[in-house]
Amino acid sequence: MATIAANLQAVKGRIREAARVADRDPRAVSLLAVSKAWPASAVREAWQAGQRAFGENYVQEGIGKARQLAAPGIEWHFIGPVQSNKTALIAANFDWVHGIERLKIAERLAAARAGKPPLNLCLQVNVSGEATKSGVAPGELGALARTVAALPNVRLRGLMAIPGPSRDYAAQRRPFRALREMLERLVADEGLALDTLSMGMSGDLEAAIAEGATIVRIGTAIFGERNRGNS
Ligand SMILES: *Cc1c(COP(=O)(O)O)cnc(C)c1O
Repeated sequence: MATIAANLQAVKGRIREAARVADRDPRAVSLLAVSKAWPASAVREAWQAGQRAFGENYVQEGIGKARQLAAPGIEWHFIGPVQSNKTALIAANFDWVHGIERLKIAERLAAARAGKPPLNLCLQVNVSGEATKSGVAPGELGALARTVAALPNVRLRGLMAIPGPSRDYAAQRRPFRALREMLERLVADEGLALDTLSMGMSGDLEAAIAEGATIVRIGTAIFGERNRGNS
């Protein structure tokens, strides 16, 4: 019963230690609990242990849980690939979208978000060695960021990446460093007010924090191994 609460404490311990090693304030790193493939009861258990931000990558699954667990202060992040026929549902039910890689999707989300608080967006970048091969190419990032930042009803917060898994700490840091440098350039050269680096998962959160992650997206280390074939 207490497993999820204990796992959350362990993950927070890892975050604190990684921040200490990197000489960063641990409060500058927020924990997104990736609850995809887990039932609402697991999310409730994490909520009861104090967790407030949850990540989902299937629209219907995420909305189902959000409806069951509507609670003040709970925050839902969409972290999967966004299909254009799902933008209205996503804009209506989520607070953040991490995987923006095309202007068309951002425009549709912006249009669907009218009348609500701005939807927080991150651009997904295809940093070298990216496992999924999704994300905008670094050379196209500046133009996309400028255009998305100017859209109404959305707030461009920063960048996200999913580098391929690696067990080697130095190799893990490389794509995270590249993403941080891209964010720094967007701030310096484009004058964009960006504050978010969404990077780091269960296996590489230390390397991500060392390179400046402000949101780590953690599933397995909190909820356990996903074995339903939909992760
Ligand atoms: C599943 C997923 C995660 C969590 O991965 P774990 O290795 O289980 O921590 C993070 N980000 C994205 C985009 C995911 O799809």
